[in-house]
Amino acid sequence: MEAEIITIGTELLLGELVDTNTRYIARALREIGLDLYRTSTVGDNIERIAEEVQASMQRADAVITTGGLGPTIDDPTREGIAKACGVETIFVPELWQQIEERFAGFGSVPTENNRRQAYIPAGAIPIENPVGTAPGFIVETDRSVAISLPGVPAEMQHLLVTDVIPYLKQRLGLQSIIKSRIVRTAGIGESMLDHKIEDLEKLHNPTVGLSAHPGRVDIRITAKAKTDQEADKMIASVEATLEQRIGRAIYGKDDQTLESVVIGLLKDKGMHLALLEAGTDGALAASLAEFPEIIASEQILSEAGSEEALSAALKEDMRNAPAQAGLLLAMQPSREGSTVMIQVLLPDNEHTDHKSYEAHFVNMKTRAVSYALLWLRRLLLFES
Ligand code: ATP
Ligand code: MG
Repeated sequence: MEAEIITIGTELLLGELVDTNTRYIARALREIGLDLYRTSTVGDNIERIAEEVQASMQRADAVITTGGLGPTIDDPTREGIAKACGVETIFVPELWQQIEERFAGFGSVPTENNRRQAYIPAGAIPIENPVGTAPGFIVETDRSVAISLPGVPAEMQHLLVTDVIPYLKQRLGLQSIIKSRIVRTAGIGESMLDHKIEDLEKLHNPTVGLSAHPGRVDIRITAKAKTDQEADKMIASVEATLEQRIGRAIYGKDDQTLESVVIGLLKDKGMHLALLEAGTDGALAASLAEFPEIIASEQILSEAGSEEALSAALKEDMRNAPAQAGLLLAMQPSREGSTVMIQVLLPDNEHTDHKSYEAHFVNMKTRAVSYALLWLRRLLLFES
């Protein structure tokens, strides 16, 4: 089963308004396992709305529109949908009564303009709007169904959740559920990852997609199945393949972050951490700010001095704190971009590593932080 979304509003086309409705509806559709292959935006124009809706209804089993249901002449969705379905708009006295009651609730009366909102395409099923004035409506055809909701996000969301989703589930007989899992990686570039899991990215169900952040790449596995257990099984099989191919780069799943994982390891080992950073504006300390209970000391220097001096200062901090683990991150501008030095100090391990970033790299500090945390995690896991 397939759906499409059409947002209506000239404001959207003029770049004056960010379309958040599509995103909200897209997620709701995903949850009920309705595929979304296309979304579009049209201005407040009857002909173009009619054209767009007609084309969408030929392709998809359900078309959801938002916007253009207000009381003024430049709110042409009712007429656009009617035209797409080859019917007239008709006045529905019950809708007019609801609108009047709603205004009465505010202690006022609707204007003659508001009467427009009591018109819907002939044969349409009205959707009462208890949180605003503009009612929505549903027009069913043999091939498809068009559902029109108000543009105001709170109103749209309310009607979507209480009326539209239950309606769609019933009409389209949707039983499948969609589940996602995020496998989080660091220390492996997006293109390398892409190369290693190219075949997985071509799967249709479950699907596998990448999203890159500085120094970290997330892999999202999404499965569609009849039952929860079946979806879990499909996801687990892809996860196992990932473990096999890139296990070393995986640091967490779903809501875990590199920071929370590293802190968790330190906690498990009963260790406190001393931080020393230079030339990164405190980016490392900031990324760990949520976990003050584990940070024994932090020292932030504006510039990196010699490696020996920094290392000696960190050791001194560790003695004073006291801390059983130490992490040093120093970043220095170089001719090509930046050079980064990290040092991880553990009771039975001292590890130093260097890395350089070329000037075109963006978010170098965030990358450096990922890099430092990655090493600390590795050494905590595998070498202490
Ligand atoms: P109203 O009865 O308020 O006129 P309407 O159904 O006619 O509602 P529009 O006039 O198209 O809807 O939009 C009303 C307001 O809703 C817009 O000014 C904007 O703030 C918000 N809105 C409309 N469409 C979207 C969208 N796609 N994403 C986010 N906000 C939107
Ligand atoms: Mg309007």
